[in-house]
Amino acid sequence: MSAVDTTATAELTAREAELLSRVPDGLFIGGAWEAGTRQQIQVQDPATGRVIKRIANATPEDGIRALDAAVAAQEAWAATPPRTRAEILRKAFDLLQERRDDFALLMTLEMGKPLAEANGEVTYGGEFLRWFSEEAVRISGRYGQNPEGTGTMVVSQRPVGPCFFITPWNFPLAMATRKIAPALAAGCTVVVKPAELTPLTTLFFAQLLADAGVPAGVVNVVQTNTSGAVSAPIIADPRLRKLSFTGSTPVGRALLAQAAQNVLRTSMELGGNAPFIVFEDADLDKAVEGAMLAKYRNIGQACTAANRFIVHESVADEFSRRVAAKVAALRVGPGTEEGVTIGPLIDDRAVATMQALVGDAVERGARVLTGGTAPERDGFFYEPTVIVDVQPGSEILREEIFGPVLAITTFSTEDEAVARANETEYGLVGYVFTQDLARGQRMIDRVDTGMMGLNTGLVSNAAAPFGGVKQSGLGREGGLEGIHEYLSTKYTLIPA
Ligand code: NAD
Repeated sequence: MSAVDTTATAELTAREAELLSRVPDGLFIGGAWEAGTRQQIQVQDPATGRVIKRIANATPEDGIRALDAAVAAQEAWAATPPRTRAEILRKAFDLLQERRDDFALLMTLEMGKPLAEANGEVTYGGEFLRWFSEEAVRISGRYGQNPEGTGTMVVSQRPVGPCFFITPWNFPLAMATRKIAPALAAGCTVVVKPAELTPLTTLFFAQLLADAGVPAGVVNVVQTNTSGAVSAPIIADPRLRKLSFTGSTPVGRALLAQAAQNVLRTSMELGGNAPFIVFEDADLDKAVEGAMLAKYRNIGQACTAANRFIVHESVADEFSRRVAAKVAALRVGPGTEEGVTIGPLIDDRAVATMQALVGDAVERGARVLTGGTAPERDGFFYEPTVIVDVQPGSEILREEIFGPVLAITTFSTEDEAVARANETEYGLVGYVFTQDLARGQRMIDRVDTGMMGLNTGLVSNAAAPFGGVKQSGLGREGGLEGIHEYLSTKYTLIPA
């Protein structure tokens, strides 16, 4: 581990510099930190655009060595008693609570989210450690006579084997714990490749896992800025048993094609284009509150972010006016600053995307109620924005916005709302606001998504199965379902 580069971090506070100096800067392979090559990754603070740390950059050979370590550790980890695996995960949960402030600040520094939200992610991400520590001891099978009475059928669950995880930048801790915790609970070893934009949280977390007693080789981390080159040989290696990816649909599609060569088991948590439907009978206070959460949490950079607001024509003006008033009161600035509710976007490309999407919508007839520009300041900021009268065919209705822009369209009948909600190749989550119970139940069936928030703008929970349908992905993370992504079913017949 090296000290922070002080020339690049001149404006860090003493607390920030001290924290960054404790974050490992190597590759984590076989339980040891390795320096890697001289070609380093520069991690930026998106609130300032300044480099806050330089860390090792894995080569394809490093990736394969990490897989070697995971393969070598697999048998012993699978044979480790479930109670022991559970207690290690529980210890990791406890350590995360102790180190909460460090993790929260680190996420704010490398990703930009306001400190209060980073704290929320420590809570949410940590819950996967606790939930799967509890699930580790509940892996069970079936045992019974076959129908012919000529034998006993035993159905057991075995760990899948060595896994490869690729995670995105938007939830640096939770996207890692959501995969690592169930894998370890099931008895699998893992290689993790975090996003190159936010690798520090994963490195800090790898050290925490080692401190919690995770044996050498069970978790390995290879950060790289040549993701494709490092990932492809790992995915092609016949010793790998599972690929779990969270990220964009185009990258997921390409990885699925690679995984098909070895008929690899996969979990894919991909993009979303969530509809947010407000019926004429909705409680508008709840709908506005839900909209703020579903749109502006994580600066709009969540796969579950509400993307298309589909509001009944009779309440659209009032909903738009109330939501715009709240949005205009949000405070933009660095996530470390007290009272800030909207931090920076992850990079300058994200700012350019907001400008292009809003520009296209306005050109086609939309009106800006609030926001609509990128403030003149350091870092990658875009004002929280509300646009109304968004016309069909606008890019913003098709694309995953991934930023703080709330786009409103109107509808007149329930059938129209459903048709518009389902008019997308994505199907991760939908939000529906209605006080009519029967309508709410109809919408659960009719909106084609893996998850639904009924009169709420936030659905994620470690105890719930997170995941999508259509091109939002395959598999579920969390809940009872989550551990089965890392188990394979084995059937044995024992003749009578
Ligand atoms: P991304 O697809 O660009 O990158 C995700 C990860 O894949 C990163 O680690 C990146 O380095 C890696 N990667 C990129 N190209 C690769 C390649 N050719 N081979 C191997 N790895 C490669 O996505 P992002 O911008 O980091 O994250 C935002 C996306 O993630 C959004 O689409 C969002 O909806 C999605 N997301 C989905 C969920 C979910 O649970 N469904 C959760 C969070 C984010």
